[in-house]
Amino acid sequence: MARYTGAECRQCRREGAKLFLKGDRCYSDKCSFSRRGYAPGQHGQGRKKVSEYGLQLREKQKARRIYGILERQFRTYFRKADRQAGVTGENLLVLLERRLDNVVYRLGMASSRNQARQVVLHGHIEVNGRRVNIPSFLVRQGDVVSVREGSRSSVLMQEAAERMNSIQPGPWLELTMPAMTGRVIRYPSREEIDTQVQEQMIVELYSR
Ligand code: SF4
Repeated sequence: MARYTGAECRQCRREGAKLFLKGDRCYSDKCSFSRRGYAPGQHGQGRKKVSEYGLQLREKQKARRIYGILERQFRTYFRKADRQAGVTGENLLVLLERRLDNVVYRLGMASSRNQARQVVLHGHIEVNGRRVNIPSFLVRQGDVVSVREGSRSSVLMQEAAERMNSIQPGPWLELTMPAMTGRVIRYPSREEIDTQVQEQMIVELYSR
């Protein structure tokens, strides 16, 4: 399972937006984008004219980076979304939201999607009572996602419990505490997904 292993903050600076890849640090004054909100590299502060293709490419890269997915898998999601009924761009975002690592993040079981990926990989998460250690696992309506009983006393999960007590997951998820359990009530609508990307531009890019 390949993943991006470079500097996360560099990705925010490249996209010109905070992508919230580092959990609590993103909300502190240590955030690199807050301190250096220009593109990385020698010419990062230069002015550049961006083509329509360039804009579409940036939207796609931004979405990919937010959800921590490499190009090949992202393209697979796009093909799947394109085959589904309805609006392709929205289908794509719903598929990305249904990833287990994203749901774990949304429920507050991890402070970022990167951490959620680790939490899943390390076997701390169950879906419908069975351990699932695949971050790309797609949840379905009615699925119950929970922290494994044996993992609840770990420092990481104690921190997660504090977070979970204070967050509101999207209206498509139901969180039960102190059981550290979430249920997928239904799939989210576009308005319920707060990801700041223009998905139509991604569709245009892949339709070229
Ligand atoms: Fe992006 Fe978070 Fe790094 Fe800020 S701290 S640049 S939001 S990853």
